[in-house]
Amino acid sequence: MRDIERKRILVTGGAGFLGSHLCERLLAQGHDVLCVDNFFTGAKANVAHLIGNPAFELMRHDVTFPLYVEVDEIYNLACPASPIHYQHDPVQTTKTSVHGAINMLGLAKRVKAKILQASTSEVYGDPQIHPQPEAYWGHVNPIGIRSCYDEGKRCAETLFFDYHRQHQLRIKVARIFNTYGPRMHPNDGRVVSNFIVQALRGEPITVYGKGGQTRSFCYVDDLVDGLIRLMESPDDFTGPVNLGNPGEFTILELAERVLAITKSSSRIDFHPLPADDPTQRRPVIDLAQSRLGWQPKVSLEQGLPATVAHFSALLGIDKA
Ligand code: NAD
Ligand code: UDP
Repeated sequence: MRDIERKRILVTGGAGFLGSHLCERLLAQGHDVLCVDNFFTGAKANVAHLIGNPAFELMRHDVTFPLYVEVDEIYNLACPASPIHYQHDPVQTTKTSVHGAINMLGLAKRVKAKILQASTSEVYGDPQIHPQPEAYWGHVNPIGIRSCYDEGKRCAETLFFDYHRQHQLRIKVARIFNTYGPRMHPNDGRVVSNFIVQALRGEPITVYGKGGQTRSFCYVDDLVDGLIRLMESPDDFTGPVNLGNPGEFTILELAERVLAITKSSSRIDFHPLPADDPTQRRPVIDLAQSRLGWQPKVSLEQGLPATVAHFSALLGIDKA
């Protein structure tokens, strides 16, 4: 007979940056984890250390196609997250968010599973309200180069809430703000990985625009903790709920911190700002604090060195 405390949990996008940390944490809690990924931006290497664990299963599958498995909970993370990757094949990006959500919601409906969507601060677009609370509907360009991701994620949220209202599905929606840490893809173009890799290699740091735009950076361990708390919260709490670190930094400040930590002598180069790049971003996390008892514990000063150590090892560059 099955142990009811031991859940069968599906993580889509489980071989990616966040997904691999989530799989690890769920296994450590004693659950059975099915990791589904098409390896577009993720890699087997991210979960190689989990293969061989009898509670872990890895399946190559594209979520834009239906999936028939028996599970108790679904974390739907499948979707490229970095602008370079999601803009590489924008039609596929929208399909992944929208068809992927329909397929995973259909699965949740069939097997009566609880389902969590990895949504994003990008649903707020280039926000005109600062910082961003969940009640803000956003300021999103529907036809720009970021729209495949932003509108795909917005449509996925719509689908989650319609399945909840129409089919009484147990849903959870997390709006994730910029998250960083070990296992970010070194070439995915996101700012933290870019700056660290450039600093370690002694290459110029590529700041887009004047570097005055802001982001709030959450360490991966905190984020995974927030996702699991959200999944385990009472059924009447659906979110959407912001998960992110309210510490806000300009991109230029981030560059300077990375240079200091890596003791790098790289110079800073300024490049054109990409279209629709949000000028400011910081989460209001009151809802996560009150409903999940969650707030980030790892500051940028603590999280950056751990991330630098990961990239130093990966690139074989010792900056100790
Ligand atoms: P990632 O690119 O490392 O991981 C995404 C994973 O999804 C990869 O393993 C990729 O191969 C897989 N994938 C992509 N398309 C797929 C498809 N059609 N079928 C199956 N698998 C597919 O990115 P991440 O940072 O780990 O992000 C994970 C999720 O969290 C994404 O949904 C992303 O939108 C969301 N998110 C992340 C951040 C962040 O800062 N990291 C911020 C907001 C939202
Ligand atoms: N950015 C930058 N240099 C880089 C990569 C990114 O200045 O090499 C900037 C980018 O223009 C944006 C911010 O850093 O303003 C965060 O970019 P990222 O791609 O990490 O995430 P997102 O824009 O989706 O928040």
